Amino acid sequence: MNDLDDKLNIKVLMYHRVLKKEPLDDAHWHYVTASAFRKHLKMIDWMGYTPVTFYDYKLYKEGKLTLPAKPIIITFDDGYLDTYENAIPILLEMDMRAVIFVMGNRNLQRAYWDERNEGDMCPLMSDEQVRHVSEMGFEVGAHSMNHTTFLKLSSVEISHQLEKSKDQIESILNDEIYTFAYPYGGVDDRVRDVVSESEFSFACGVYTGSPKFGKTVFDIRRLAVNQKTALWKFALLLLLPYQYVEWIYHRVKSRQDPQMLEKDLYVNMEDGRNRKLKKSKNGKPKETDMIIHNISNRNSR
Ligand SMILES: [Zn+2]
Repeated sequence: MNDLDDKLNIKVLMYHRVLKKEPLDDAHWHYVTASAFRKHLKMIDWMGYTPVTFYDYKLYKEGKLTLPAKPIIITFDDGYLDTYENAIPILLEMDMRAVIFVMGNRNLQRAYWDERNEGDMCPLMSDEQVRHVSEMGFEVGAHSMNHTTFLKLSSVEISHQLEKSKDQIESILNDEIYTFAYPYGGVDDRVRDVVSESEFSFACGVYTGSPKFGKTVFDIRRLAVNQKTALWKFALLLLLPYQYVEWIYHRVKSRQDPQMLEKDLYVNMEDGRNRKLKKSKNGKPKETDMIIHNISNRNSR
């Protein structure tokens, strides 16, 4: 890391769904409304931040691009249709770009891991739409093939997921992709090692990596923004070195409860259905349980 990098500490925001209206229940565990999202972008702009992408950072590292004075990275997980329909128009209006992590399995039309019952559908972006966002200058990254947590896969399976998802997405874009986001933010030393051997240049976690941007490029810490993020909290997130605040918080908490981080990833990340999960014998929720629970819930209605 050079001197410039020492001063550079890019905050990375993580969004999921962006909904036109508040949902009737709390089905979508991680969302913001379009009007809240617009306020966030206005605040980003007002505070002098300029959204960049991981690809911009890569070019900067290669000496091919100068970064703005206050760069920030806005990311979206899963590649929901509402990212395309609700978030992107607002980003374009503000002349801002973002990074969108989509699924490698292009036959997936819905985020079944996010659906708890009928009428609670989470459609995903089509190939056409993924191509369109890329053409508009947004960075497209991969989010595994089928949203299975890497923590429970063998190293061979992880490599396969990485290669396959990169391949699938590159073939629809006809362009190279560089960035990956771990499903459920699930990453440990073993997973990180496998990913660092892959063709990806960056990988995003949530609560695990260093609070210093660029130090752990295969476990980039992100700040989750969702319906619980009041505007004043969003302002603090931008104003304070919030990634350090969360880092300290998790260090203290995980000393009291070593499994806390994993519980946090499962309970707070992605979706509400996990809250109803039965625990497996070792106390950890099993992903297969989650999916089966989810599907049977849907089918029994
Ligand atoms: Zn996800």
